[in-house]
Amino acid sequence: MSPPKKELLEKHAMDLILKAGKNGILQTELWKRLGVSSREGSRISIRLANWGMITRKKVLHKGRWTFLLVAKRHPPTLQSILGAPCIICEYSDKCTPGGSPSPELCEKLERWIVTSYVGGVKSEEEMDREEET
Ligand code: SF4
Repeated sequence: MSPPKKELLEKHAMDLILKAGKNGILQTELWKRLGVSSREGSRISIRLANWGMITRKKVLHKGRWTFLLVAKRHPPTLQSILGAPCIICEYSDKCTPGGSPSPELCEKLERWIVTSYVGGVKSEEEMDREEET
């Protein structure tokens, strides 16, 4: 059974908002691209905001008020996981949250996270610039 039209629209809307990246997309642009009315576009963005998936900030655009929609979370980039110990770990097939071994108790993972965020890994801005070039 295929998902109802409403869910497909929300998924498509979320895809468009994610593709817009950190700059976001205007609500007026979103409903045009979805091919729905402004009222339906507004409802979709309110639902996504209520679910905590996007931020919805009121902005003035070409003399009219609209909303800037920005995804709260972005999919991880390949750059962000390069060097993670789990990629080559001999226990990766047995490691589960709450299990033994587990990511919560793994010293290798903790060391990688700590060193990554204490200057070992590039900032998000640096990674964004690299992706654009
Ligand atoms: S969390 Fe630790 S034990 Fe688990 S897969 Fe990653 S490196 Fe291996």
